[in-house]
Amino acid sequence: MHSHSVCSDGILSPEALMSRAKERGVTSLALTDHDTVAGLGRAQTAATALGLTLVPGIEFSSQWGRGGVHIVGLNFDLDSPDLHRAIAQQQTAREERARAIDQRLAKLGIPGALDGARRLAGEGQLGRPHFAGYLVERGLVKDAGAAFKKYLGAGKPADVKFQWPSIEQVVGWIQAAGGLAVLAHPRKYPLTRTKMSALIGDFAELGGDALEVISGQQPSGMAEDLARLASRHELAASCGSDFHRPDAPWQELGNFGRLPPGCQPVWELPGFAERP
Ligand code: MN
Ligand code: MN
Ligand code: MN
Repeated sequence: MHSHSVCSDGILSPEALMSRAKERGVTSLALTDHDTVAGLGRAQTAATALGLTLVPGIEFSSQWGRGGVHIVGLNFDLDSPDLHRAIAQQQTAREERARAIDQRLAKLGIPGALDGARRLAGEGQLGRPHFAGYLVERGLVKDAGAAFKKYLGAGKPADVKFQWPSIEQVVGWIQAAGGLAVLAHPRKYPLTRTKMSALIGDFAELGGDALEVISGQQPSGMAEDLARLASRHELAASCGSDFHRPDAPWQELGNFGRLPPGCQPVWELPGFAERP
């Protein structure tokens, strides 16, 4: 219930993603590109041809306190005007952030970053990884990790303070479009377990539907821990690989599909199966 294509920061086309899912024995999956539904039409055509069930999805950037969190929307109505307004708003926000990063880098004596990042993003959503790619390309850092460490990461010279929309807002967008809101990869945020637990509580209180109990490869016991937190807050459970690329076995399609016992799978919630 969580994967990416070239329409955001994945490297496979929507068609190639569906073929890989089929090869990997997946029967049902969601394409959840960052802040866009641009790949869903092509993915649906390919999924139909391959006999796969495609769940319409998106991964929205949101804000909790001073940090960013990601909220996956699943099984919404693709024709919802609310959803398309929300996507347009996120796109404007991404553009503004990209221009601000570009200005910071230019002040540091690195001109042309926005053009470079745009070229690397291609048809995908422009994001910080593309700026990182540009810095690597220019030979200023050895890899993307170093680009974040030296320039783009929190507190670094090209880190732009940026407010994404609140959890309440994002959950509202998804639900207005008839979808379910899922808090993505809770252990990937730089939070202590206490803080993470508070985030999950807030998400539930603000109307969220489910928690990603499984997100790719996790240390043993983590899924069980997250499953307990999900049931404590009456959230359903989701799982996904967060697939971006074929050479990353820790986020491979079809490897992470088994929820711990006692979870309420998000795809079994009322209404989930009925949407075409
Ligand atoms: Mn991504
Ligand atoms: Mn994410
Ligand atoms: Mn993701």
